[in-house]
Amino acid sequence: MRNIAILGSTGSIGKQSIEVLSLHKDQYRIYALCAYSSLKEMCEQAVSTGARVLGLSKGGTEIPAVLSDREWYFGDNALEKIAALPEVDDVLVSVVGVIGLKAVIAARKAGKRVLLANKETLVAGGKLVMDLCSDDVNGPVLLPVDSEHSAIFQCLQGEKENPVYRIWLTASGGPFREWSKEQIQNATVEQALGHPTWKMGPKITVDSASMFNKALEIIEAKWLFRVKPEQIQVAIHPQSVVHSMIEFEDGAVKAQLGTPDMRVPILYAFTYPGREQTGVKRLDFDVLSGLTFTEPDTDKFPSLKLAYECLNIGGASCCVLNAANEVAANAFLKGRISFGRIYEVVNETLQRTGYLSAGNTGDILFARLFLQS
Ligand code: MG
Repeated sequence: MRNIAILGSTGSIGKQSIEVLSLHKDQYRIYALCAYSSLKEMCEQAVSTGARVLGLSKGGTEIPAVLSDREWYFGDNALEKIAALPEVDDVLVSVVGVIGLKAVIAARKAGKRVLLANKETLVAGGKLVMDLCSDDVNGPVLLPVDSEHSAIFQCLQGEKENPVYRIWLTASGGPFREWSKEQIQNATVEQALGHPTWKMGPKITVDSASMFNKALEIIEAKWLFRVKPEQIQVAIHPQSVVHSMIEFEDGAVKAQLGTPDMRVPILYAFTYPGREQTGVKRLDFDVLSGLTFTEPDTDKFPSLKLAYECLNIGGASCCVLNAANEVAANAFLKGRISFGRIYEVVNETLQRTGYLSAGNTGDILFARLFLQS
């Protein structure tokens, strides 16, 4: 029996992980839950899962009477405290944004296995995190939950000594794939939130529409799989059936396929190297004849180019890209800027900040605060 902590339990990944883990109660106990501010929803989850430890990063500190027998954590440090609890074995980090970084570091310093569904952590603090995540005797201690990275991780099984020639990250292309550049610039919040294939939270859905999500995933892949930026290619694949691919030195390509449903990569991170029932719809092979792969249009979606630029510049530039995008995507969601401004804000911020070093978490969080002020 493994004790699980779910950080970001009321988000899309958090909810789906509770659902899929409930099929395997004999192996996984949901021991701790932490939400950002959705107290009521987290309390319902606490009652249904029996979680013993509960946390809330933002908002009130009033403990509901029915849950007064649980251990509670409130405020900025709730994530880190829960991530390091002695009873916890595995920490699923599915919070939104760079606040996941301190939780991942705390979990690793306490020797926990981290299941990472928060790409911003690796984008902002890739080297810091990877230095804490060398595989131990029991195997990998950092398991990707992002569907593309889980696909790559799955394709790499049994290929330990074999050099990767290239990684193919697939991208659905988002809702604006066929729109003109001008239409994209003026897209509304409602239009940006209409993702064609994946059901996700608002921030990542906006990131998918701007393709900043794929830009972040390029950076995430570079750290997770220790490859050079030029070894990572993006293919637009609107059907989202091939979740990503690896091309090996000999020309062989391995892909992982399936119905687009996050419960598969979520549960695989828990059950690795085994596989268990998820309850997802099985792949209908009739759809395979309609699969398409095209090159991304970086004129319409210039965010992709920024990822490569930042990786080549190094220092804190990926952190700056991430922070500026977090601020800009939220400003768009609140109706304060147009969709087209998201890219401009990130690009202008990168030009203005120039090179910043990225020595430690302090530097990284400082770079982020500096950008927000
Ligand atoms: Mg993804």
